[in-house]
Amino acid sequence: MIQPITVNDQQIYTDFDQLGARAEVAFQEVRTTAYLAQRLDELGVSYQRFPQMTGLIATLNPGQPVTIGLRTDIDALKQVYQGKTQVLHSCGHNAHMAIVLAVVTYFAAHPDDLPGTLKVIFQPAEETVTGAEKVIQSGLLGPLDVLYGLHVCPDSEVGDHQAEAILPDIATRTYWVTITGKTAHAGRPWLGANVIDAFSTLNERFKQIKLATDSPYSVTTTMFQAGESSNIVPDKGTFAVDLRARTNDLMDQLQDQAFQAMRAVSTGDIQVTLDGNDLSPAAIPDDQAIATMGQAITAVLGTDGLVAPVPTQGGDDFHFYAYDGLAKRSTMLGLGCGLTPGLHVPGMTFDHTAMLSGAKILINAVRLTPTTLA
Ligand SMILES: [Zn+2]
Repeated sequence: MIQPITVNDQQIYTDFDQLGARAEVAFQEVRTTAYLAQRLDELGVSYQRFPQMTGLIATLNPGQPVTIGLRTDIDALKQVYQGKTQVLHSCGHNAHMAIVLAVVTYFAAHPDDLPGTLKVIFQPAEETVTGAEKVIQSGLLGPLDVLYGLHVCPDSEVGDHQAEAILPDIATRTYWVTITGKTAHAGRPWLGANVIDAFSTLNERFKQIKLATDSPYSVTTTMFQAGESSNIVPDKGTFAVDLRARTNDLMDQLQDQAFQAMRAVSTGDIQVTLDGNDLSPAAIPDDQAIATMGQAITAVLGTDGLVAPVPTQGGDDFHFYAYDGLAKRSTMLGLGCGLTPGLHVPGMTFDHTAMLSGAKILINAVRLTPTTLA
C-alpha cells in the first residue's frame, strides 16, 4: 500500500499564476528563472544556474548511488491573442513548473522518502527544440539512472482524471537544402542545368521512399523556392524536407534513403548541399520507467486512471537526454486534464485540479523508483 500524499493546493495554483504572468519565450526566461530561484531559496534547496543561459538545476539528497532526474520545460510562445501580440503559456509549461515545484517541496520536507539523489532540471527553450541539447552541453548535469518528465495532454488524446505512463512522441527531422545548377537562356535550356528539373526528380524520389514497417512515417517537401525571371534557366533553389517516423531507428533509415536520393541527383552541373537540420528524437520506451510511472498513476488515479499511450504526432526535446545517453532510462507522464481546445492555442484552458494529481503522481514515481537501477 502506497502512503497517500498531501500537497499544498494553494501554493501550486499561486506558482501556476505567477509563472503564467511571467511567460517568456525560449532563452529569454529571465523573470521565470528568478521566480524559480526565489522559490527554491524559500525551500532551502540548492541549485545551479546555467552560466550562459536561463534555467537551472536543483539537487536534493546529493551523493546517493541512484540518481533520479525530473525535468520541466520553462518557456512560452509569442502569439497574437485578442488582437495583440503576447507571450503565453499556451503549451502549459507553467503547469509543468508548478507541478515540479510541488514535487521539490514534498521532498525538501520528506528527504527520507527519496530513494536516491534527485536532480530537477528547469529547462529553457523546449519550443525551439534546442534547450535540452544546451543543458546536456553545459556539463552541469551528470548521468541519470532514470529521468522523468511530463506534459499536459489535450482532452482529445487523454481525458481528465486519466494519464499515460509514456508520451509516445515520434521522431521529427527537418533538412534545409540548396540546389545549384547552371544558368542559360530559356530558349537554349540544353546549355544549362535547371534546378527546378533537378528538384522535381528529387521530389519524386522522396515520394518513392519505402521502409519495411507497418508503422506510419512520412517524407514531405514543405518549402521550395527557385527562379527570378520567366526567361532564364534558374541555377539556384532552396527547399525544406520534413521527415517523421515512430522510432529513432526508422528515422535513421528514412535519413539514409533521403541522402541517397539527394546524392543521386547531384550529377554534372547539379549540386545538392545541406544547409542545416533540426532533429527531435522519438521517445525511447523503457519498461522499468514505464512500470514505475504506471504504478504511480494507479496509486493516485486508480486503475481506471491509467490509459494506454495514445499515438501522437507531437515531439519534445525531452527525448534528447536518453538519445544522447545521459539518461539510462526515461519516460514522460502524459497528464489528462480536460485541456481544450488544444496545445499552442491561445486561450486554451484545463482543469487546474489535475495539477494536484500530476504532482502526486510524480512524487510517487520518484518514491517508487527502485534503488537497484544504479
Ligand atoms: Zn510543450
